[in-house]
Amino acid sequence: MTDTLTDTLTDTEVLNHWINGANHEGSSTRTAPVYNPARGIVAKQVRLASTADVDAAVASALAAFPVWRETSQAKRQTIMYNFRELLNARKGELADILTAEHGKVTADALGEIARGIEVVEFALGMPHLAKGEFSENVSTGVDVYTLRQPLGVVGIISPFNFPAMVPMWFYPIAIAAGNTVVLKPSEKDPSAANWMAELMMEAGLPAGVFNVIHGDKEAVDALLVHPDVQSISFVGSTPIAKYIFETASSHGKRVQALGGAKNHMLVLPDADLDLTADAAVNAGFGSAGERCMAISVVLAVEPVADDLIAKIAERMKGLRVGDGMRGCDMGPLITEAHRDKVASYIDLATTDGADVVVDGRGVEVDGEASGFWLGPTLFDKVSTESAVYQDEIFGPVLSVVRVESYEEGLDIINRGRYGNGTAIFTNDGGAGRRFQHEVQVGMVGINVPIPVPVAYHSFGGWKESAFGDAKAYGPAGIAFFTREKAVTSRWLDPSHGGINLGFPQSH
Ligand code: NAD
Repeated sequence: MTDTLTDTLTDTEVLNHWINGANHEGSSTRTAPVYNPARGIVAKQVRLASTADVDAAVASALAAFPVWRETSQAKRQTIMYNFRELLNARKGELADILTAEHGKVTADALGEIARGIEVVEFALGMPHLAKGEFSENVSTGVDVYTLRQPLGVVGIISPFNFPAMVPMWFYPIAIAAGNTVVLKPSEKDPSAANWMAELMMEAGLPAGVFNVIHGDKEAVDALLVHPDVQSISFVGSTPIAKYIFETASSHGKRVQALGGAKNHMLVLPDADLDLTADAAVNAGFGSAGERCMAISVVLAVEPVADDLIAKIAERMKGLRVGDGMRGCDMGPLITEAHRDKVASYIDLATTDGADVVVDGRGVEVDGEASGFWLGPTLFDKVSTESAVYQDEIFGPVLSVVRVESYEEGLDIINRGRYGNGTAIFTNDGGAGRRFQHEVQVGMVGINVPIPVPVAYHSFGGWKESAFGDAKAYGPAGIAFFTREKAVTSRWLDPSHGGINLGFPQSH
């Protein structure tokens, strides 16, 4: 700890930046509290970087780039493989960090890590995935081929709700492709980033290839305009995603910026209502609704609403809310302020004429009373004009909107400002196919409530859920983290002589 830090911090653990393969205190004296949300206490402080600290992280990544870029694909692959093995062996440690700082229950934390490991496994295929193309004899004795080369230093800025998985959507692909990384994780649950960066070094990654800088707007802004940062991968709320896209693009960077969401589940009258109710509860309340692919609106096509709501409410009674370490179903919200904001929608729903079927306030919890608790909450007869419908609430709140037809439900989804994920529940194959064709949303589930694509497809929403056209991971991830170069080559012989000022043509 530096002697410039305030006295109040001296008896609290302070999480450092990770720069050039070592803990780095940086020059800033600013810090932010990191809570244990199940206990409602400040567990540690995290440093908030100054612009100079960001410069140090970028300088470390820039210095590591030439050697890492020249490292053979086989060696890079071995390191990624070692990382995958270490991660599998020690994922329990990482899950404990996620539960302690985010609050999600252990099973959910392990699920998040498993989806991240998928991307590591995808990135293991980099020598094949980043292969170029070759065309022989495009003109007499002339060949054309393409190469995919790394960009250089890439910046990643991630949200609080997936402290392991979202960074893993990007850094395994970026690093396997030969780039060097500066990751700025959420300051609300920052420790997972350091843990992963350290594990990468244990796997054999050279110092400086993977750096972690902690901070808030100051650190983000420094990354967005830094001349040595070639690209920005951002995931977070829509207003910030838009800002990131505009700022980084105007500084000449390649940008992918994924934003917020409000995901609908359209339930047709022929759906199996028991399976649909299971799916709605799992997708609405898993991770306390703090998922960008959570279902937050059920569009019930009449006459199913009464039956469906009864089945959902019945299942909600069985959910155990509490400390994620104790084998509960649902944990706390990330901060007290966020819990209070989410809870405020319960009063708003009543004011706006909705029925509060289940009120999550005052829920009985298996955990300390000081935790940031809010139980699963269900609203019926929600108006699409209400803020409860319009806003991304990002908590354990499920709204039912009653509609008269498939067409009315589809129209509501298509008029929404977000287009991240959606699902239809039906036993009618034709309706499912029609929905996939007509819905204006980037990721669609047919009887699958959280349709997050596997690692070898790409993830990304439409409309205000994503800015720029670059999706995360999968083939889009390979394209994003590499730059294509086309080479036209010939080995000269006497037949190539002579003067010709015309534009080159094949012959
Ligand atoms: P957030 O936008 O508040 O923060 C995301 C990142 O931006 C953090 O690293 C944060 O430090 C930084 N940041 C915050 N305010 C900033 C500012 N004014 N200027 C510059 N940087 C700033 O999001 P969050 O609350 O951490 O995460 C939840 C949001 O992320 C939800 O809206 C959710 O839908 C979205 N999300 C989207 C996806 C997706 O794939 N589309 C995935 C996960 C989360």
